[in-house]
Amino acid sequence: MTSFIDSHAHIFFREYEADLHDVMARAAGAGVRAVVCPGTDLETSRESVRLAGRFPSVRAAVGVHPHEASGASAEVLSEIESLGGAEGVVAIGEIGLDYHYDYSPRDVQQEVFSLQLAIAVRRKLPVIIHSREAWEDTIRIVRETVASNPDWLGRPDADPPARGVFHCFPGDGKMAEEVIALGFYISFPGPLTFPEKPNRPNLMARVAGEVSLDHILLETDSPYLTPHPHRGGRNEPAYIPLIASKLSEVTGKSVAEIAETTFRNTVNLFGPDLGLPR
Ligand SMILES: [Zn+2]
Ligand SMILES: [Zn+2]
Repeated sequence: MTSFIDSHAHIFFREYEADLHDVMARAAGAGVRAVVCPGTDLETSRESVRLAGRFPSVRAAVGVHPHEASGASAEVLSEIESLGGAEGVVAIGEIGLDYHYDYSPRDVQQEVFSLQLAIAVRRKLPVIIHSREAWEDTIRIVRETVASNPDWLGRPDADPPARGVFHCFPGDGKMAEEVIALGFYISFPGPLTFPEKPNRPNLMARVAGEVSLDHILLETDSPYLTPHPHRGGRNEPAYIPLIASKLSEVTGKSVAEIAETTFRNTVNLFGPDLGLPR
């Protein structure tokens, strides 16, 4: 059976309270062998670690989302740093900048982003980056971190070195090249599958067709960004094959090759035990 990994799903949200076991069973039935669950604040980061303990296929990432940056006190960040050493934690995330909603002031977002990159450096972990309408500042802060920490390569045994992933990749082909050169993957969620309209080209699909598969991961970002034809409903990790099949269409590669390569990329980023039962 074809095996996939969902590199980004927030399965701690209330949306899954009633039926998480069914959701995980459907994921397994669809070939999704592992799910990486990024926290968005301290509480959900703790919950992600708990879920990694409960479900053998789940791994956790811990971090404070830019929306929540205002709440990231020194105490919260030091808790995130300790959680980074917990069983089942594979990354610091999701972290970054979001100027679309500006739920936290931009200077605070930038500071909290830098501080969490520093946590990843100290913990020798990769990062999961969220960037929305904040490209220049995001890439500047990442560049600064890489320049002052040349030894930070994500997991020490990643080959090639993999410092993280830009999730829900918001950029064009040139921006993709920029992050790939910095040792990052890019990942595509449900909007990749949205049909093109005459006045609304699917830019994500165009970028996906330009970038080598060796740099791409699959994600759902559940419960958000539900792929076609389920758009409007709740998203879940079992929909990963829909994204894989759209990626197959835009790259001209078979679904089997998409699955195999994105699986290998995700394991390289987050660790060799991903997808193996614990
Ligand atoms: Zn995000
Ligand atoms: Zn997310």
